[in-house]
Amino acid sequence: MRLNVITLFPDMVRQALAYGVIGRGVKRGLIDLHIYDLRDFADNKHSSVDDKPFGGGAGMVVTYDPLCRAWDQVQSEGGAGQLYYLSPQGRVFNQRLCNTLSQLEAMTLLCGRYEGVDQRFIDDHVDYELSIGDYVISGGELAACVVIDAIGRQLKGMLGDEESAKTDSFMSGRLAPPQYTRSEILGQSGVPDVLLSGNHQAIERWRVEKAIETTKHKRPDLVGTSGGDDATHVPIRTEGK
Ligand code: SAM
Repeated sequence: MRLNVITLFPDMVRQALAYGVIGRGVKRGLIDLHIYDLRDFADNKHSSVDDKPFGGGAGMVVTYDPLCRAWDQVQSEGGAGQLYYLSPQGRVFNQRLCNTLSQLEAMTLLCGRYEGVDQRFIDDHVDYELSIGDYVISGGELAACVVIDAIGRQLKGMLGDEESAKTDSFMSGRLAPPQYTRSEILGQSGVPDVLLSGNHQAIERWRVEKAIETTKHKRPDLVGTSGGDDATHVPIRTEGK
């Protein structure tokens, strides 16, 4: 899958995605990562891409023209997909939406900074706004990395054991069951006997029971749902487009 990222902090994105499973996926080309430095599209000697907000107020706003030039560049290379602006005002990213997005061949993620980007760029070019939760962080880079990491895990060939993603929390509308590893006895605590039994059917049954129990206990809101809103039924396109 081709993933394009437009950002003011390319190294932050590159480095965050250089580790573990995702880092290996990038190296092996399963994640075809292309990072565009927004400053390369500035047209002034200071490479500045922000300006004061009309109407006054705190902070700066990312200006329209460099964003347009960066988006034109991504599109001119092919494999741009649609444009997703990471924004606290967007649709909240969840496993369901992640699974849907992981079917795409390409997408472009735009990371905002400062007080955000000029609304006219959103109106004219952004297809979807994506939020990682109802709180505000300082820039879209960490949000883009969260989205890329979660999507990356779903891509074929990324995980050594394809089954492991299927049994993750949220994949079947419930949380994952508890896990144990060596030693068999830690202080007063042992490992549930069934996990040492070698009986795979019994282990599977136990895991399902525990997953249901854990979900009821920790996330009762998930019980009876299929794990978040349904990406195929809820429009994620930016309002007004
Ligand atoms: N003034 C904006 C508001 O209140 O809606 C917040 C701007 S925030 C400081 C700067 C950038 O961080 C945003 O443009 C966006 O790209 C990113 N950002 C902040 N919170 C986010 C979230 N919850 N999900 C995704 N991106 C977020």
